[in-house]
Amino acid sequence: MTYVLQTYGAAVLRHKAEPVDRVTAAVRRLADEMIRAMKKHEGVGLAAPQIGKSQRLVVLYHPELHPKPLVMLNPEILKRAAEFFELGEGCLSLPGVNVNVSRPSAVRVKYQDLKGAMRETEYEGLMARIVYHEVDHLNGKLIIDYLPLDQRLRFEAQIKRARHPTRATGEKPS
Ligand SMILES: [Zn+2]
Repeated sequence: MTYVLQTYGAAVLRHKAEPVDRVTAAVRRLADEMIRAMKKHEGVGLAAPQIGKSQRLVVLYHPELHPKPLVMLNPEILKRAAEFFELGEGCLSLPGVNVNVSRPSAVRVKYQDLKGAMRETEYEGLMARIVYHEVDHLNGKLIIDYLPLDQRLRFEAQIKRARHPTRATGEKPS
């Protein structure tokens, strides 16, 4: 299976992803592929929509905090700490962008593992942030959505300009 990393502007990144009903061989392959993609791009997390699959599946990893990659199917945030902290975040789907995002300092998440077993775990600090970021992807939410409106509009205009540069004179229409 080959994947294409989906970047800002791809519709799949804005869809609410579908639940994973059953842990099939295809789901396990997708999880493997996502772990490989995450490591290759030096990310600490990846959600299936980021490789074009609108399914509720995320993978997480952190060299120190969670060296063994973690796969979560249908993750659901049950509880969040009242305390928030702000930190600069990047996203593989928004290359070169770093946005300060305020997130809860701890989350309790319920998910299914690759054996289909239900699990519930609490994460703090950076891991809580990563879980939150990836669950956002499953709901079509991106880090730029946390920006104040004026900054977000400026950012979107920048991206549009980069995609559709003014045609230079003499350029042949295609
Ligand atoms: Zn992301």
